[in-house]
Amino acid sequence: MVEERAQRASRNHRAFVTGISGQDGGYLAERLLADGYEVHALVRTPSRPGYCPAEVVLHPGDVTDHDATRRLLLDVAPNEVYNLAAISSVFRSWQEPDLTRAVNGDAAIALLDSALAVQVATGRAVRFVQASSAEIFGSPVDSPQDESTPVAPTNPYGEAKAAAHLAVADARSRGLHAVSAILYNHESPRRPDTFVSRKITRGVAAIARGEADELVLGNLDARRDWGWAPDHVDAMVRAARYQTAQDYVVATGESHSVREFVAAAFAAAGVADWEQYVRVDPAFVRPTDAAELVGDAGRARRELGWAPAKGFPEIVAEMVAADLGP
Ligand code: GDP
Repeated sequence: MVEERAQRASRNHRAFVTGISGQDGGYLAERLLADGYEVHALVRTPSRPGYCPAEVVLHPGDVTDHDATRRLLLDVAPNEVYNLAAISSVFRSWQEPDLTRAVNGDAAIALLDSALAVQVATGRAVRFVQASSAEIFGSPVDSPQDESTPVAPTNPYGEAKAAAHLAVADARSRGLHAVSAILYNHESPRRPDTFVSRKITRGVAAIARGEADELVLGNLDARRDWGWAPDHVDAMVRAARYQTAQDYVVATGESHSVREFVAAAFAAAGVADWEQYVRVDPAFVRPTDAAELVGDAGRARRELGWAPAKGFPEIVAEMVAADLGP
């Protein structure tokens, strides 16, 4: 009887997550477990990723193996699917465009089809969230961007994410509760330092401790909409469970330059006259780089009741504090 109840509960509360080893995957798994979900994750190696809770059921595999992933999805038969697997760095996407297309684009499209197959096989609805990106807008002329901004990517990362984004709308028209969460930059102390936020906070902490004497960066004038990763994960979960499926811009609505991020990080670490420590190296300047990406999350606020809990100064301060250590 108890077992039967547990089975019934898990049948309605079972999630499947790709990209569990990334920053967002860990936060999402924690959130889903807290909500009472049984969480299944696709992992490339059988070992548990750093931020992956012990309760998550791991399934070794690769999103680029479409047939095996489809069989697994049919077997797990989840109610919610979160596709976070991606080559997550724009910079790396220029070095590995084919892999980026395969993982960020083709695999997402195949997973949408597999989710539809699960729906047909089980007769139960599957709710699918695709982790999309502001990079699908390329270098937009208008700010802020919203769900009606033209999709016009300018790098392999954005191109692949755009292909997946369009496939979400197609799957929706075929009856899947499919959502594209158009995520703007979102950070945390779990962010790897291939991203500028963590590179800055780690570098600033090292300078504050007297262990380094310079921070070498690229374009300091780029303006980005930096949010808090757990807030963006919260938006994805809300969108999955909302009554209707739509695309949502997930953003704070505020932009800051890389230079402002640097200044805020040095201030949080208590370092004055910070300009002397910062050097610009053209090797870190990108061939194309949007001058400003800033999102209007009005739809998410209105429909999902979503609002970011943490603002720019707190995000920077919390990352610096984590890097300074106890
Ligand atoms: P992205 O917006 O997803 O590509 O996130 P990033 O954190 O990698 O980059 C944000 C912005 O910071 C972009 O406009 C980069 O050009 C700029 N930037 C400036 N210097 C650096 C650097 O040293 N590393 C990285 N990753 N970005 C940098």
